[in-house]
Amino acid sequence: MGVTQQQVVESLAKVASPRGVALTDAGVLSAISVTEGRVFFSINVDAAEARTWESVRAQAEAAVRAIPGVSAAMVALTAERKPGAQPAAAAPHRHSHGVQPVSAHRPPQGAASPMSRQSEIPGVAAVIAVASGKGGVGKSTTALNLALGLRDLGLRVGLLDADIYGPSVPRLTGIQEKPKLNDDRKMIPIQRFGLSIMSIGFLVEEDTAMIWRGPMVMSAITQMLRDVAWGTLDVLVVDMPPGTGDAQLTLAQNVPLKGAVIVSTPQDLSLIDARRGLAMFRKVNVPVLGIVENMSYFQCPNCGTRSDIFGHGGARHEAERLGVPFLGEIPLHMSIRTTSDAGNPVVASEPDGPHAAVYRAIATKVREGLQGAIAAA
Ligand code: ADP
Repeated sequence: MGVTQQQVVESLAKVASPRGVALTDAGVLSAISVTEGRVFFSINVDAAEARTWESVRAQAEAAVRAIPGVSAAMVALTAERKPGAQPAAAAPHRHSHGVQPVSAHRPPQGAASPMSRQSEIPGVAAVIAVASGKGGVGKSTTALNLALGLRDLGLRVGLLDADIYGPSVPRLTGIQEKPKLNDDRKMIPIQRFGLSIMSIGFLVEEDTAMIWRGPMVMSAITQMLRDVAWGTLDVLVVDMPPGTGDAQLTLAQNVPLKGAVIVSTPQDLSLIDARRGLAMFRKVNVPVLGIVENMSYFQCPNCGTRSDIFGHGGARHEAERLGVPFLGEIPLHMSIRTTSDAGNPVVASEPDGPHAAVYRAIATKVREGLQGAIAAA
């Protein structure tokens, strides 16, 4: 019989809380999601108390993992500052996907936030982000094929799907299995195409992932970075949530990034969004490794004729203007879409084709941008 919510509640009732009552009576638990042995929930406390609750979070997670039949457990600690508890930083103009602003949750300058663990990940030489100013520009497709391109250069590569609003890596890779735990109770990433892959989509259903709020995003992603047995990697590619809202900014701030790749389509609007992405990484001192123009031009699958339907070249021009490297242009091509959507990305399924060559060329430039970081490790 599968794990039930009741079993989870019973195990949590044995965990004490700093409020002197059982965790289940402390009024801090979110709804508990149990899907085929994968358990997810959050503990919501005030930011001022967060530090005291971190050990409770760990105990809760351990208690749930000890339930027979639980294959993965993830407990996010979400710390919210009470409205008015602290003056909010400059309010952001927009928040993608209805994410609550987290400026008010940011610690004062110089104070270490319990969520902020920007230290390196042992064994991982360089973490890079693949970001986009908005959704639907092909960020995830680019992240996966870029990871494969880096693999083709002989690097040991991992892929973390941090797009927790709509994790698409399970679909793009065809992975349906769940990560297992090692003896240290860390999740073992799934091996596919020679990559070590982890996605929140392996743990929760896609629709569940849509309800996350800002602070939860950070907590969940920190855990996916730290509680996964990544092993030794030259590069860990993080597929970021789309957009440049506060959740993304917090992420860029709290993940130990060596660089960021921005994906844009040639349309003007998307370039404006790309500029926001650029500004976001600059704000948190993460070097922008460059801009990729995706769906740059249309290549007819039958005759190979190229049409610049979106006025191609905008990203190259923009990159030059902004003084960041231009990493390359990827055509809008049927086989990129069909291979992606079939869970067999084009660099893996058509390694000798023209698209794989484009992604490898981009990977080469990314490696050049990271040279110092990888060599130092
Ligand atoms: P995002 O992560 O930005 O939301 P995805 O990578 O999920 O975008 O891509 C959105 C859709 O566009 C997917 O169906 C994907 O297969 C398709 N796609 C992405 N890049 C290309 C491309 N260069 N050519 C054709 N289809 C593409």
